[in-house]
Amino acid sequence: MKYIVVTGGVMSGLGKGITMASIGRILKNKGYDVIPIKIDPYINIDAGTMNPYQHGEVYVLGDGTEVDLDLGHYERFMDVELTREHNITTGIVYSAVIERERRGEYLGQTVQIIPHVTDEIKARIRRVADKSDAAICLVEIGGTVGDIESMPFLEAVRQMHGEEEESNFILVHLTLVPFTTLGEPKTKPTQHSVKALRELGLQPDIIVCRSKEALDAAVKRKIAMFCNVKPEAVISAPDTDDIYEVPLLLEREGIATFIMDKLRLKVLKNDLKWSEMVERSRAISDNRIKVAIVGKYTGLEDSYLSIKEAMKHAATETGCKVEPKWIESEDLESGKNMNDFFADVHGVLVPGGFGVRGAEGKIKAIEYARENKIPFLGLCFGFQLAVIEVARHIVGLEDANSSELGTTPHPVIDLQVEQKNIDFKGGTMRLGDYEVFVRTGTLAERVYGKKKIIERHRHRYEVNPDYIDQIEQKGAVFSGTDRSGLRMEILEVEDHPFFFATQFHPEFKSRPGKPSPPFRAFVEAAIRYRDRDEEA
Ligand code: GLN
Repeated sequence: MKYIVVTGGVMSGLGKGITMASIGRILKNKGYDVIPIKIDPYINIDAGTMNPYQHGEVYVLGDGTEVDLDLGHYERFMDVELTREHNITTGIVYSAVIERERRGEYLGQTVQIIPHVTDEIKARIRRVADKSDAAICLVEIGGTVGDIESMPFLEAVRQMHGEEEESNFILVHLTLVPFTTLGEPKTKPTQHSVKALRELGLQPDIIVCRSKEALDAAVKRKIAMFCNVKPEAVISAPDTDDIYEVPLLLEREGIATFIMDKLRLKVLKNDLKWSEMVERSRAISDNRIKVAIVGKYTGLEDSYLSIKEAMKHAATETGCKVEPKWIESEDLESGKNMNDFFADVHGVLVPGGFGVRGAEGKIKAIEYARENKIPFLGLCFGFQLAVIEVARHIVGLEDANSSELGTTPHPVIDLQVEQKNIDFKGGTMRLGDYEVFVRTGTLAERVYGKKKIIERHRHRYEVNPDYIDQIEQKGAVFSGTDRSGLRMEILEVEDHPFFFATQFHPEFKSRPGKPSPPFRAFVEAAIRYRDRDEEA
């Protein structure tokens, strides 16, 4: 097993996840199976209880684990399916060590960070690596070098370096090279962060430098000299509009050659599908659609990262570009003219969400899209609110609501039976992959082209079975359900060009080159809507 460890310096948010995902993609293109691990040095067991405003979206894996959005980058770039074991947090490591201590398995020893916590970390990394068929295991250490939280993980990596063959281990360090107002690149922050790494006994093999513009050879030589790496191991990673271009940029800088030399790997093949996909997307210029995303965390676009990516995947394969128009749902509640918000969009998307703030605004957006026949895609909370909208305005149940949002005589969305007795919040939702059975002759069947699909879930509430008949009598159809037929998964309405909402989150299974079917159908419907507009 070969290990590539990625650390970060200077500050967070530089794109360590995308860098590692890109390295994984490059190696896959060369014919190697790769397996990623993300280390999150926070004490939370998982990301399930975390506010998307702080960390961006909570990503959901097939097995239902709620994780950091970087795992989404890994799945999308490397086209792999990850599980709980691929995300190691401080919370997980310490709970395991403390449980073992309570069981008396440390046989009277004093339990310490070194060696007991670091042993646990190393064992977890190696276990995941060995269990996979992959040749290369990539490990991203979250946080920034110098943080107290990441110390035990960096120490574990230092020990691993000593224990593995030199040709089986590479350390990649990501830093920032800022430019002064006069346009001069500054290498000092990089020098300092490498120094901090060295103090911990770690010497990077490769330094990836994030910057506004590409770095020239002189700057790279300077970094190489001060940081004690080869000049060809200083990789310039300038900003780009398209994250899927990053693997190509890094490869052009020579990262693949350097890694493969050090790890003594041969090029097994040269898969060009990825670069063709990037090329396809770049070639699109004037075929554009605008999609309103009506949400509550629109101030931080990362809160809806997978949705944004899924739209890109669908757009590239359809031959267009999607411009998102972020609408804060609370802004729709103040009695303003809805046309002002939606007149220029070709589709309305209402994403997942929690809680009452902004919910009525989202319902208004759904009503507007339904009445004006604008293509609509509702996801999870967006599905539940669509059910409420239909119940209120088509079925005539004026006060219909979700019991998540207040007391109502018509709880058309209600807590799942399994959820009623749970009084803690972490990891308690209906999470991850579940089968969905699609009804014959529906839009859902045309969208998926299949009768049985598997999609990822993350919800606590669901359609109240008592209202299904009433809703279906009025021109709405639940075109997807679970195996029992009692749990509603997809809603569509008749007499509308595209009104499609899902209790599940199709965005998590969308991949570059393999867009999620509902996103693809939504983008196609938006193009038709735009063109009909232009003809009229
Ligand atoms: N708040 C809703 C529920 O818990 C929807 C969740 C979501 O959109 N992820 O069921």
